[in-house]
Amino acid sequence: MFDKILIANRGEIACRVIRTARRMGIKTVAVHSEADAKAMHVQMADEAVCIGPAPVGESYLRGDVILDVARRTGAQAVHPGYGFLSENAGFAAACAEAGVVFIGPPIEAIRVMGSKAESKRLMANADVPLVPGYHGTDQDFATLSAEAERIGYPVLVKASAGGGGKGMRVVRAAGELADAVAGAQREAKAAFGDDSLLLEKYLGRPRHVEIQVFCDTHGNGVYLFERDCSVQRRHQKVIEEAPAPNLPDDLRRRMGEAAVAAAKAVNYVGAGTVEFLYEDGGFYFIEMNTRLQVEHPVTEKITGLDLVEWQLRVAAGAELPLRQDQLTRRGHAFEARLYAEDPQRDFLPAIGKLVRLRPPAESDHVRVDTGVREGDSVTMYYDPMIAKLIVWDEDRDSALRRLRVALAEYEVVGVTTNVGFLGAIAGHPAFKAVEIDTGFIERHRADLLPPPAPVSDRALAAASLSVLLKRREEAQAALRARSDRYSPWLLANGWRLNEENHYDLRLMDGDTAREVTLHFRADGYEVAADGGKPMPVTGVSLTDGLLTATLGGMRTRATVVRQGLDITVLIDGAVYRLTLDDPSARAAEQEGGSGRLTAPMPGTVVRVLVEAGQSVEAGAPLMLLEAMKMEHTIKAPAAGTVSAVNFAAGDQVSEGVDLLVLDIAEG
Ligand code: ADP
Repeated sequence: MFDKILIANRGEIACRVIRTARRMGIKTVAVHSEADAKAMHVQMADEAVCIGPAPVGESYLRGDVILDVARRTGAQAVHPGYGFLSENAGFAAACAEAGVVFIGPPIEAIRVMGSKAESKRLMANADVPLVPGYHGTDQDFATLSAEAERIGYPVLVKASAGGGGKGMRVVRAAGELADAVAGAQREAKAAFGDDSLLLEKYLGRPRHVEIQVFCDTHGNGVYLFERDCSVQRRHQKVIEEAPAPNLPDDLRRRMGEAAVAAAKAVNYVGAGTVEFLYEDGGFYFIEMNTRLQVEHPVTEKITGLDLVEWQLRVAAGAELPLRQDQLTRRGHAFEARLYAEDPQRDFLPAIGKLVRLRPPAESDHVRVDTGVREGDSVTMYYDPMIAKLIVWDEDRDSALRRLRVALAEYEVVGVTTNVGFLGAIAGHPAFKAVEIDTGFIERHRADLLPPPAPVSDRALAAASLSVLLKRREEAQAALRARSDRYSPWLLANGWRLNEENHYDLRLMDGDTAREVTLHFRADGYEVAADGGKPMPVTGVSLTDGLLTATLGGMRTRATVVRQGLDITVLIDGAVYRLTLDDPSARAAEQEGGSGRLTAPMPGTVVRVLVEAGQSVEAGAPLMLLEAMKMEHTIKAPAAGTVSAVNFAAGDQVSEGVDLLVLDIAEG
C-alpha cells in the first residue's frame, strides 16, 4: 500500500478521499489554487501545495505542475477525484512517465471510453445492448440525415466526446436536423475540441440505471449493483438512489453481467460506471465513466463498502476484496445534490458567502459529503455544489422520509440554494410512487417550482421578533455603557418603546411592503401582520440565530439571520427573505444616497478601507471591489458612521449584497 497520495482535486471529493486515506493510515497531499488557500480540503490534508491562480486552467488542470508537486512531496500515487483530470488519458500517461501511480483505469480504457462513438462500436462487438443509433466515422450531413431517417425520429444528436450534456440536441423531425447538427458541432468543438457526433433513437420515457463495476489487475471483475439516476434536469442528475426501485432481480443480474463484460472488453481496472437507459424491460448502453462517480455514496450505503478504499487497494496491486457471490446489499439509499443556484431564475448558479451553514447531524442514516464550512464562500470559479446529502434506511419509503427530514433541517443562509426544490421532489407523490423516468422534473415542473409564495405571517412574526430583540439588546448595551443603572430601559419587564405600548415595523417582501405591529403583553406579545388578526407569542428566546417561541399556540423553532438590512428566515421547512425598511436608510435613499452599500456586480473584495464604528465624510472611499477585471471604489454617499462591514479582503461577493452599512449622519 502507498504511504502517501496526492489528491488532484478540491471540494467535497478531495475531502472524501482524504477521509479514507487517513483511516487507512495513508498520508495525503492536497493541491489548491490561490482562491482555495483556506479551503476545507487544504485544512484536512497532511500537506498542501498551491498550484496556481483561481481559474482551473491555471491550477487544477495543470497536470504538469501537479506531477511536480507529487515528485517534490514524495507522493506515490495521484487520486484524480471526478471532473478535472480524472478522465484525461494524457494526464494518466504523464503519471506513468513520472513513475507515479494514477488511481484509475489504464490509459487505453480511458481513451476508448472517452469517445461515446468508439465505445459503442466496441460494446456492439462485446454483445452489450445499445440504443439503436449511428456511431460511424462518416460525419457528412447526407450520411447523418440518412441514418436519422433509418433510426426514425425523434433522434438525439450527441457529441462523441461529450459529457455534462454538452453538444446534445433532441431532433423531433427531419426539418430540424441541419440546425441541430450545426449547433451540436459548434458546441462540441468549443467544449472538447472535437466535433464528431453520433445519433441515437431518442427514447420517450427511459430511466437512467447505471452499474457500478470494479476490476483489479488480476483479471477479477464484479458489479456492485446499480443506481437509479432518473431524476434529472437538462439531462444532469439531481437525486440518485440505490437500488433502482422496482427493477426485477433477473434484470439487475443481466445488467450487472453486461456491465462487467463491457469493462472487461477494455481491460478495465479500478472503479467504473456503465450507464444504461432502461425502458419497457429493455436496457441499452449509453456510455461508461472511467472514474469514481459523484453519486457513489449511495452504493456505499447499501453495500457497506468504502469504494475509495477499494480504489486504493486495486491501484496498489491487490486483488478485489470480495467476489461477486460475496457481495450483498441492504436497505435503500438516496443522494441529493445541494447546489448554490436559484431555481426561480432558471437555476442560475449563485455565489456568495455561506453566512450560516448547518447540515443535519450525521448518523448511520444521514451522511453529508461537503467541502465547505460556515463562513466559506461559493465562488464563480468552481462548481457551485455545496454538499451531497446521503440518507439510508431499511426500505425506500423510510429512506425517503429521512431525506425529507434531513433536507428540511439543512440550514444554508447567504446564497440561494436548490434545497426547497430538492424537498419538493422528495415530497412529491409521484416520486414516492416510483413513477420516475428522465422526464420526471419537466412533467411535474409546476408542482416542483411553484411561484414564490408571499412571506408567511409566522415568518414575518419571527423576523420582527428578532429585530425587536436585537434593538432591545442594543439599547440596553448603550444604556449600560452610560451606566445609567436606574433607567427603565434596563428593567427586564415593563420597558416600552412608545406610549402606545407597541412597536411598528415595515419589512419588504420583494416589492411588497409588509406592516407588522408588535403589542407588548404581560406574558409576551401579540403580532399582527398587515392589519390582520393578531397572533399571540410567548416564551421567546434568541440564541445564535435560533429563535424559539410559541407562535399562535405552536411551539416553533426558526432560524433568523441578519445581514445588514436583509433578513433570512428559515421556518416551517421554508426559506423566506425580507428586507428591513429602515427609516434612516430610507431617508438616506431619498436624499439620493443609500445607507446600504451594495455590490454593483459579482466580484472580489480587494481592500476594506474602513472599520465598523468609524465616522466618514461624504465621498470617502470605503471599499475596493474587483469585478469584470476592473476595480470599483465603493464611496460613502453621505457623511455618517460605518455600522457594519460585511466582507473582508479576498471575499467573493454576489451582485446586490450589502457590502457595508452606513448610518447617515442627521441634519
Ligand atoms: P453526458 O455524458 O453528456 O452526460 P449521456 O450520454 O450520459 O450524456 O446522457 C445523459 C442523459 O441524457 C441520460 O441520463 C438521459 O437522461 C439522456 N439521454 C441520453 N441518451 C438518450 C437517449 N437515447 N434517449 C433519451 N434520453 C437520453
